Amino acid sequence: MTPNTDSIDAAGADRNASLFARAQRVIPGGVNSPVRAFRAVGGTPRFVARAQGPYFWDANGQRYIDYIGSWGPMILGHGHPAVLEAVQKAARDGFSFGAPTEREIELAEEILAHLPSMEMLRLVSSGTEAGMSALRLARGATGRSKILKFEGCYHGHADALLVKAGSGLATFGNPTSAGVPPEVVQHTLVLPYNDVAQLEQAFAEHGKELACVILEPIAGNMNFVRASIPFMRRCRELCTQYGALLIIDEVMTGFRVALGGAQSLYAQAIPGFAPDLTVLGKVIGGGMPLAAFGGKRAVMEQLAPLGPVYQAGTLSGNPVATACGLATLREIAKPGFYDALAQRTRSLVEGLEAAAARHGVPFAADCEGGMFGFFLLPELPQNYQQVMHSDGARFNRLFHGLLDRGVYIAPALYEAGFVSAAHSEDDIAQTLAAAEAVFASLR
Ligand SMILES: *Cc1c(COP(=O)(O)O)cnc(C)c1O
Repeated sequence: MTPNTDSIDAAGADRNASLFARAQRVIPGGVNSPVRAFRAVGGTPRFVARAQGPYFWDANGQRYIDYIGSWGPMILGHGHPAVLEAVQKAARDGFSFGAPTEREIELAEEILAHLPSMEMLRLVSSGTEAGMSALRLARGATGRSKILKFEGCYHGHADALLVKAGSGLATFGNPTSAGVPPEVVQHTLVLPYNDVAQLEQAFAEHGKELACVILEPIAGNMNFVRASIPFMRRCRELCTQYGALLIIDEVMTGFRVALGGAQSLYAQAIPGFAPDLTVLGKVIGGGMPLAAFGGKRAVMEQLAPLGPVYQAGTLSGNPVATACGLATLREIAKPGFYDALAQRTRSLVEGLEAAAARHGVPFAADCEGGMFGFFLLPELPQNYQQVMHSDGARFNRLFHGLLDRGVYIAPALYEAGFVSAAHSEDDIAQTLAAAEAVFASLR
């Protein structure tokens, strides 16, 4: 494949660059979510004009094979006809009512049918909101204040979660953002991911004060790092033993790695495994602002209006968003969907591994369902510290090499990638041909 530079118009004007300049005058950094600004990799963000199937076209008219899919939601690809029709029909019937609708029940029933650990759920509008609400619920239900999270796991940008490990073992964290007072994170304990010994020590010291443990089962916000089976098992056992709730954040992995989420994979390996609360987002909205949290009935009934834990939302359960999510889930629940998606994803990952090996580039990759990750490292990392040993400069060359050849992967080495059902074998082959050329230049 030759670099696709003919998209810049005859006068040589780069519309992405002019839009970026204009955006920066009115929006901080020119973007409404920081990673979009390409700060890690440098260069000009692509402004998306439209998308269809596995592709999007930027403001210059250049086509890209899209391996971000809105950071996960677009599991059917862009503009799936059944989803589009459901959204158009719902929009004609009204955008928002602030009163209950039948479709909210249907969506809740559809989600619960696939996630047996959840008996009830509540719909919200973003993963951040879902995670923040689940934490409040865990604290309200247990009457405890302290929470435990793991370094490299992202659960949205609620104040109490913008925290990194303090110095020394099993310490409470320090804010990672200005504007978060130290007092707000003083109850947040931060540990390395996949470290059973430190987990046990933290519970020995603080277990009786912990409201919950929250984790990503496959940490997609440090690219792709699986919680080991022993680590997940100990999280479950210790929460049960000390009366803390186990919250699995499946905003990224839910309906992405398997129909039953990542928790279904752990339930296969750990008999009786189930979280107390699950956080969902991304795929369940099919690209619309929609997320959810849910779990055991006794815990969920602590929420207002039944219980003392307040939670609310003007646009929660929005009729257009629920139509989009419901149509998406109905497509992906069809037999064979995940087998085909996983096979396509594997062929991409295995092809990338082979190309890297041919050119002597250190490369380790993993995938599950329609989610994948890779590292320019000789083996897969197990925690955030190891992820950060990845070769950033080399990643940036890989990123721009692929981008120049019409392949769009996440513009940061700590982000996962996503394949949709719309990606064809030919799309994968084009991607691998581009990767082959880029790896050759990286050696
Ligand atoms: C994306 C994500 C969130 C935050 O969701 P938003 O909708 O961006 O607020 C939370 N947790 C995980 C695991 C995520 O991947």
